[in-house]
Amino acid sequence: MYVESVDFKRQAWDAKILGDLLTRLIANGYQGLLAEIHQAAGRFSRPRPDRSLPNSLGQADGFTDVLIPPAQPHTRVIFFLAQPDLLRMIVAGRNQTEVRRVATATKMHLEAAVGGHLSELLPAVADREGPDRFRREVVPALHLTASGGLVVGLRDGAPMQVMLALRRQPAFRGRPTALGSQLTTLLPDKPTEQAREAMERLVSSGIVERWHVVICRTGGQWLAVAQGLDEIKSLIGSNVACPHCGVRMGEEIQEVAYRLTEAADAQFADNRPLCELLDAALRRAGAEAVVIDPGRGAVDGAALYHGTVLVFRARSGAPSAEEAAQLLEQSRHVEQQGWRVVSMLVCDQPAPADLRQSGVFVVDNISRLDAAVEEILSKVREQQTSALLPPVLRPLAISVADLLPPE
Ligand SMILES: [Zn+2]
Repeated sequence: MYVESVDFKRQAWDAKILGDLLTRLIANGYQGLLAEIHQAAGRFSRPRPDRSLPNSLGQADGFTDVLIPPAQPHTRVIFFLAQPDLLRMIVAGRNQTEVRRVATATKMHLEAAVGGHLSELLPAVADREGPDRFRREVVPALHLTASGGLVVGLRDGAPMQVMLALRRQPAFRGRPTALGSQLTTLLPDKPTEQAREAMERLVSSGIVERWHVVICRTGGQWLAVAQGLDEIKSLIGSNVACPHCGVRMGEEIQEVAYRLTEAADAQFADNRPLCELLDAALRRAGAEAVVIDPGRGAVDGAALYHGTVLVFRARSGAPSAEEAAQLLEQSRHVEQQGWRVVSMLVCDQPAPADLRQSGVFVVDNISRLDAAVEEILSKVREQQTSALLPPVLRPLAISVADLLPPE
């Protein structure tokens, strides 16, 4: 389920405008709860000219309507007056595309009913939970400084993922190394070409060095290594034979090996690769703002998503209960500013089970970071939505999910 909500503010949302809006929506194929009630009333009582939709809205205390947009049976639009001057529109549907499409179409009808530009109704509330307030309040409260990213400026997820996977490979001369033929296993969920490209970027930024290797075709032993291809060429052109199987070097396997350099250590030391991965994943998932400042304390960064602040710590190895407690303490500072807050612990090793009960969201499977982030964000959207729903639905215990038909 995906949900979007917008507040529209004007001096007063009187019954006439709301009635015009509903009449217009219904004429354009929307099915609405209020229109149904009107029809039902017409069936059971004598028709009266003063019982028009705008008139009856004028008699009502509040205003709430649930509508099914035309040709979108899996989407719902909820309109209600949150305050006399604040009309809230909530659109819920199966995915972002459907919701955006319906939201755009419905806004156009609203614009026509109001007879002006919607943009004029938006700015007053735009900053209530927006990125500006996030930067002004949350970032300083957590003592974060927006930093420039990896030395090499790799804000892309693939090189980070390769870097983290490479670190778990066996060592060659004391440093983790992988063969070119193993590239796909380092980035299992992406095409080989992307893994190759990511590795090349790590090589050109000095985080990985490339070695040329000759490997025994029979036993798999490494027979020779060199950083220059010319040395390898002169070796395979010679009459030197493999000590294990006896064939000439030219008939053995030529490979490329990638080895993490010492420059990588500084990057790993403050968990920057993990933070950058998370940064990229959050932005892909639609976070409106992300700030990372790893390696400084209890918090490595924060993000803004649908008016909720995500405070996170990203670390290598298994996290401790103490770290979770410190993270929650920082989150409370942000809560005191009046934000909804979610605390998130991301690590590249399995976290102890009791951490998950501490109120912290734990992500300990980096290879499915996108899915894990999406799971958390969908909970954020649900929480946000139940807070946004019109009061009239609360006694009925209706959630937004209940309004959507089963798939
Ligand atoms: Zn051999």
